[in-house]
Amino acid sequence: MALVSYCEKYIELLPVKQLQELQLKCLNNTIKQAFNAPYYRNVLTEKGISELTSLKQITKLPFTTKADLRNNFPYGFLAVDLDEAVRLHSSSGTTGNPTVVFHTQQDIEEWQNLIKRCLYMVRARSSDIFQNMMSYGLFTGGLGLHYGAEKLGMLTIPIGPGNSKRQIMFMKHFKTTIIHILPSYALRLAGLLREMGIDLDKDLHLRIALIGAEPHSEEIRRKIEKLLGLKAFNSYGLSEMCGPGVAFECELQQGLHVWEDHFYPEIIDPQTGEVLPEGEEGEIVLTTLTRQAMPLLRFRTRDLSKIIPEACACGRTHRRLQRIKGRDDDMLIINGVNIFPVQIEKVLMRIPEIGTNYAIHVKKENYMDKLYINVELKKGISSGALKELEALKKRINDELKAEITVTPHVQLVQATSLPVQEGKAARVYDHRAGN
Ligand code: AMP
Ligand code: ZN
Repeated sequence: MALVSYCEKYIELLPVKQLQELQLKCLNNTIKQAFNAPYYRNVLTEKGISELTSLKQITKLPFTTKADLRNNFPYGFLAVDLDEAVRLHSSSGTTGNPTVVFHTQQDIEEWQNLIKRCLYMVRARSSDIFQNMMSYGLFTGGLGLHYGAEKLGMLTIPIGPGNSKRQIMFMKHFKTTIIHILPSYALRLAGLLREMGIDLDKDLHLRIALIGAEPHSEEIRRKIEKLLGLKAFNSYGLSEMCGPGVAFECELQQGLHVWEDHFYPEIIDPQTGEVLPEGEEGEIVLTTLTRQAMPLLRFRTRDLSKIIPEACACGRTHRRLQRIKGRDDDMLIINGVNIFPVQIEKVLMRIPEIGTNYAIHVKKENYMDKLYINVELKKGISSGALKELEALKKRINDELKAEITVTPHVQLVQATSLPVQEGKAARVYDHRAGN
């Protein structure tokens, strides 16, 4: 196939049988390595598991959840001497203890190689100019892509998100060809380009966008491609595995190849925990196969997808995941930032002037996610009479922003004016369905 080119041909095209043999070997090394982490040492000893003789036996291993990570904060999952760890990342959207992930130098190098492999797969080359519009810091989107892009040899611009006029100025002057961007931000940027009268062909040189970190539909991808005049590729990852680089679309844009020499994917029924046959939709469960600092066994991602049973026409043998459909828990992803509603509740409930009922609405406006929070005032406090209403609103906004990092739009309403439900309170209304 003339259009397809491989970065690590041997491993990308490894026949399935050999790939599975490699996985079993790596899985057993991972179990061995996991014994060095206090949490797994206890769990695996209790279960009496030290080695598997086939990949199917993976079901003997226990699941690992985000809650396990939090409950064993900070070092319960660390499987090397602290001396050997060189990087810590953390996922947003956690209540209480954050989930932290450690990397050794080798882990970082493997991650860089994976990103390089993904980039090469979508035809990025060392001659490209790469503008990374994902945030740098604890979030893995910035640094993760950054080092892989440098490894490929691209001129890498660590600009981070926001400040669209500056983004456009850089894109123009440095002839940026590849961008890494949230889908929602890509659409907003496209709107601004149009407003500014920028000619995509004459003024810019864009040819590829890497989009991910939040659910988006095929229609949104096509819209981004049309409005920015480029090809957009879906990138899936989560900080618990490494970040971006777990699964990536190939040139053919028909599903995301999971790099199976580093991660073992399973799809389970989220209710029963049973492994589902290929082609059935369920929760993605991932096991790291090469990680040293923090091996994770059967990590429950809560992300919903399915494994595409057919082999991909690109020739790569690593199985494909279908575009992520959504999540199985109540985590909201607001412009790429993970938020649990309980984080909002926690902040609201410590403000004395407000009551107990509130409603969270998430909407898409001008391609951006907007978070509206309607909050009932305490009985006896009238929204009309309270002179300090604006100050109170600002205080709530500030406290929420500090907790969730997203700026909400808070509306104060009279006591008992919001709907009350029978049974389990439904307080979250996501109006973005279908995007
Ligand atoms: P974090 O650990 O903060 O990077 O967040 C990871 C989560 O972001 C994943 O578990 C998914 O829910 C979501 N996510 C990442 N990439 C994608 C993608 N390409 N499509 C849909 N959701 C994504
Ligand atoms: Zn493919």
